[in-house]
This record gives sequence, C-alpha cells and structure tokens, in this order.
Amino acid sequence: MALGRKLPLVSDRPAAKAGLKSERILWPERGPGVFEQELESIEDALMTTTVEKAVAWAQSGSMWPDTFGLACCAIEMMSIVSSRYDIARFGMERFSSSPRQADLLIISGRMTHKMAAPARQVYDQMLEPKWVIAMGACASSGGMFNNYAIVQSVDKIVPVDMYVPGCPPRPEQLIEGIVRLHEAVKAGVPPAYELRSVAS
Ligand code: SF4
Repeated sequence: MALGRKLPLVSDRPAAKAGLKSERILWPERGPGVFEQELESIEDALMTTTVEKAVAWAQSGSMWPDTFGLACCAIEMMSIVSSRYDIARFGMERFSSSPRQADLLIISGRMTHKMAAPARQVYDQMLEPKWVIAMGACASSGGMFNNYAIVQSVDKIVPVDMYVPGCPPRPEQLIEGIVRLHEAVKAGVPPAYELRSVAS
C-alpha cells in the first residue's frame, strides 16, 4: 500500500463495518497506524480474491452448452440432459440453440474439413468467456479416421480446454470432463483462447 494514499474514513472501512474494534475505530481523528495500513492491504487483497472467486463460481455454475453434434459421439452427448444424467445439477439447464447464449462448445464426433468453417463460425459467435470440450477420439485426434476428409484434432480449428477420450465416451465420461472443466474455472485457469494468445 502506498503510504501517501489518502485513506477513507475509519467508519467507512470494511473492517469497521465488519465489527472490528481497534484503536483507529475508537479514535478516528488519529492518522492510520502501521497496523491499520497492513490491515487495509489485507482488506484490499481479500476483496479482490473474493470477487474473482465469486465470478469464477458463477461462471462454472451457469455454463450453457451449444448444440453441436457431428457424429456418433453426439448420441452420447445428448443423453446428458436426460433424467438419468441430468446436467442441470451443475447449472447447465439446457443446450442453447444460439451460440450467442452459449458458453461451452462440446464438439462431439469426427469433424470433416467441410464442417471446419461452420464450427469456427459458431465458436466466433459465442461471447467470451467461452470454453470448448473435444469429445471422443475423433474430435481429439482424428481417431480411426486417419484420412484426407477428417480434421486430425479440432484444436487446429478452435482452442480446446478439455479432451474427453473414448470411442464413444460414455455420458459419465463427458460429465467427468465437464466437472473437471468447472474445477479448472473455479481454480482460475484461463480459457484456452487466452492461453493460446499468450503463447503465440
Ligand atoms: S470417437 Fe468413436 S463414437 Fe465418437 S465420433 Fe469417432 S467413431 Fe464415432
């Protein structure tokens, strides 16, 4: 904390409002002491941390997926909204039909080169912050389709935050990937597009 900075009135300070009784609160005209200066820097740090955590918690608890099924993996993906799996438990109430109202793109299945441009367009239309899951061996690496028609990993088209292995992955595996993504967001891990822009 800069020592020359003008401090707010003692009675306006968060620690005072929280009920802390100190020398400064009992004697407001007296200037800030070392203890008060240290306390204010703790208050500042605590407030920043708390707001960031609250935002991350809200983002991870309201992540709506976009509808984007490409192949057989999509059948497994669709079932996560059923009563058996019920991703509404994690704040993911529904799949959004508009990318402008979606935060999470689950690319489920093999992506042909023909579908690469539409996929990128959908991704670009999503507002930030946004996340991508590559579901299944085909989306992650091309899988068994090592040929000219299939993109050999969708991370060549969009930045991927989480890879879910399997052919096809069961819905439980996809939910595991979603929960791991939520944990990463809560832990403050930036979205993949931010990491990619830092690396490039
Ligand atoms: S990973 Fe398997 S189930 Fe998924 S799209 Fe590829 S072939 Fe189909």
